Amino acid sequence: PESKLPALGTTIFTRMSALAQQHQAINLSQGFPDFDGPAYLQARLAHHVAAGANQYAPMTGVQTLREAIADKTGALYGYQPDASDEVTITAGATEALYAAITALVRPGDEVICFDPSYDSYAPAVALSGGVLKRIALTPPAFRVDWQAFADVVSDRTRLVILNTPHNPSATVWRKADFEALWRAIAEREIYVLSDEVYEHICFAEEGHASVLAHPALRERAIAVSSFGKTYHMTGWKVGYCVAPAALSAELRKVHQYLTFSVNTPAQLALADMLRAEPSHYLELPDFYRARRDTFIKALAGSRFTLLPCEGTYFLLADYSAISSLDDVSFCEWLTTEAGVAAIPLSVFCDAPFPHKLIRLCFAKQEATLLAAAERLARL
Ligand code: PMP
Ligand code: GLN
Repeated sequence: PESKLPALGTTIFTRMSALAQQHQAINLSQGFPDFDGPAYLQARLAHHVAAGANQYAPMTGVQTLREAIADKTGALYGYQPDASDEVTITAGATEALYAAITALVRPGDEVICFDPSYDSYAPAVALSGGVLKRIALTPPAFRVDWQAFADVVSDRTRLVILNTPHNPSATVWRKADFEALWRAIAEREIYVLSDEVYEHICFAEEGHASVLAHPALRERAIAVSSFGKTYHMTGWKVGYCVAPAALSAELRKVHQYLTFSVNTPAQLALADMLRAEPSHYLELPDFYRARRDTFIKALAGSRFTLLPCEGTYFLLADYSAISSLDDVSFCEWLTTEAGVAAIPLSVFCDAPFPHKLIRLCFAKQEATLLAAAERLARL
């Protein structure tokens, strides 16, 4: 058939993980932990399965989970969403992003995103007939130039997609960025899709700035998060979004025919976990900072130049002292010849990305990080 996405291949995450497996490389490419999530969460899942909670969940999500999310949001960001009308449980953040884009973007609408950008945004925009306006951010700081942003905003702009803490650059937005965003869009009917799946993996001094903490912006925003990141269980695929009732209603129209509802016992277990152990997500910055610092220390003698990492579980490394290959070729070489798989940054960009940067996932056990660093330090 004629392809609706002719230029699109298989995602870089699938390709690099397959190559890593084929060559038995240490896989620091696709972002997932090589350790398990909390025992309590697993036990609660087993409990709810045994107790017979095995039929469809409500379309919008299990009530106790939506309530627990509403309370957590209130405690962290000073805004308590309505659990019934403003919180929706989705099949991972991926579904929330797709449903939000599909609900909001009409043919010909312009959507602004920041490159490098997570790879699921562009195909969703394209399938809705939207036109993506990509604003390129430059390493090492990857900060938004708000003047350049204002120049891209127009009467056709419908949606702005942002991600903080940011995959892959590992930078985070400041409150001032949200202020600047608001000033640039306040006069127009423009919505905001804020991908905050790494909200609890933030090392920046001022902490994670959520769109939900901005009283004006949150009236226009869909904030997205994922339990896969927070509880080290990417395979559970449970995420959620928080948005004003009118926006949530539109998003739910898509969600109800995309997946209808999400795994029931997992939602019940996550609700128990949020209530019983709030310290778990509050301790995540320390948990991941320790891994980040172990990895950075182990790479100190290498010829890679490491970029600052303010959030996420990814570290960027510049390899220009090691190779003149382009980043995709270098990652293939690194996997097959050096035994470490990584992600090239250019795949997240539309315009040519001439920098020699790779992304390494440090959501790994210390032994994995040390073994990978030893291989990388030999280059
Ligand atoms: N957004 C970003 C920035 C991500 O890094 C990821 C997953 N790595 C997702 C969304 C998707 O999250 P999920 O696995 O919950 O679908
Ligand atoms: N978001 C994960 C990453 O950035 C990958 C998710 C996926 O494989 N689709 O590595």
